[in-house]
Amino acid sequence: MTTALRETSVRDVSVFGDAIAYFNEAADLLELDAGMRRILTHPSRQIIFSIPFQRDSGEFEVYTGYRVQYNFARGPAKGGIRYHPGVTLDEVTALAFWMTWKCAVVDLPFGGGKGGVTCDPATLSSNELERITRRYAAELVEVVGPDKDVPAPDVNTTPQIMAWFMDTYSMHTRQNTPGVVTGKPLEIGGSRGRVEATGRGVTICALDEMDEMGLRPDKATIAIQGFGNVGKYSAKLFEERGCKIVGISDVTGAYYNENGIYVSGAMEHAAKFGTLEGFKGGEKITNAELLASPCDVLVPAALEKVFTPESAAKVQAKLLVEAANGPTTPEADRVLREHGIVVIPDIMANAGGVTVSYFEWAQDRMGFFWKESEVNERLEDFLLTNLHQIRSIANARHATLRTAAYTLAIDRVVKASKLRGIYA
Ligand code: NAD
Repeated sequence: MTTALRETSVRDVSVFGDAIAYFNEAADLLELDAGMRRILTHPSRQIIFSIPFQRDSGEFEVYTGYRVQYNFARGPAKGGIRYHPGVTLDEVTALAFWMTWKCAVVDLPFGGGKGGVTCDPATLSSNELERITRRYAAELVEVVGPDKDVPAPDVNTTPQIMAWFMDTYSMHTRQNTPGVVTGKPLEIGGSRGRVEATGRGVTICALDEMDEMGLRPDKATIAIQGFGNVGKYSAKLFEERGCKIVGISDVTGAYYNENGIYVSGAMEHAAKFGTLEGFKGGEKITNAELLASPCDVLVPAALEKVFTPESAAKVQAKLLVEAANGPTTPEADRVLREHGIVVIPDIMANAGGVTVSYFEWAQDRMGFFWKESEVNERLEDFLLTNLHQIRSIANARHATLRTAAYTLAIDRVVKASKLRGIYA
């Protein structure tokens, strides 16, 4: 394992650069001093390593694995592991940076982290995925743990992958350690409600903001980009609250139906065929058309940088709920602001997942597990308490919800950093 500490600056790359641009806006509002800015715009630790593994065919391949532990001021690093061909150090660093603010904005006792493997899981068998995951976990044994860094699922990583991670760590440390990862299956220390938690959080935040805007759920139309863990459960929970889902999409394309898409039918189709390809519940359109489709609420739940100034200018929705991490570039954000579109920022909108991950970690440490109703009630309480605080800051400072969310989060991390002091 090699540990690479390096300077990552705004000019370096784009995803982390965009993330820093949002940070700077809030830091200006807080009049944050230059020293603290410098500290908070550098990751604590970036780890890059090779993952050699054997294909089922007998051939050997080498993939690259990453783990970035961005900040520890408020507690152990926390953040998912992504398996995707587009994974780079820049992307993982940006995601770990966002996790720092996301954990702080909902007041969890965690810092920020993220990990990934540059690979295409669609080309890998279950046995190959297991070998990659176990090697990934083994490389990180010294630097992860319930009090060090607690990974979780992200794009293309599942409860089964978390189970392999937990088992590998437990075998190496010679003790059963469920609290080393969250998002595990229930049978081995997972939390009730974790699978739907991010989608549930998206709907909790969206419905609260819709209420604020005078948009009744039974009159609202919703379009959702991405039909994975976050997208599909958001769709299902919006539908349960009486909203009409008019658009859904995945990597194979988008479907629009002004009379409403039957979400359970789409979920059954995706479970049976692996994707939405061939879904008959709506007219097939392109993903770009979905983002510009008529709807009241638009929910990007796929990947970063979906909204550029061009695509943002075509948005017809009144409310944009960032279920994905980093779907809006800073330039696009300005366009949305000019068009009067309210944005619930990613660090708040998709914080439901990490909040229930926190509950899972706490339950694992107690060895005592909660009922699903308790999980969901506590989730709503955590999210709404902090969303309302963000709204007060936004109103008081005439700022967007995004800047207000960063302001709240940065203030909490700065206070923790100052109390602990900088050990040098
Ligand atoms: P997932 O792998 O389960 O699903 C991703 C979905 O996006 C799939 O349906 C895929 O087909 C679709 N997609 C990919 N590229 C697309 C494109 N170009 N156009 C349309 N659809 C496309 O991933 P997920 O866990 O649902 O994560 C989605 C987003 O939510 C990511 O940004 C992730 O970081 C974020 N997030 C996830 C969690 C979580 O708990 N899973 C928590 C917080 C944030």
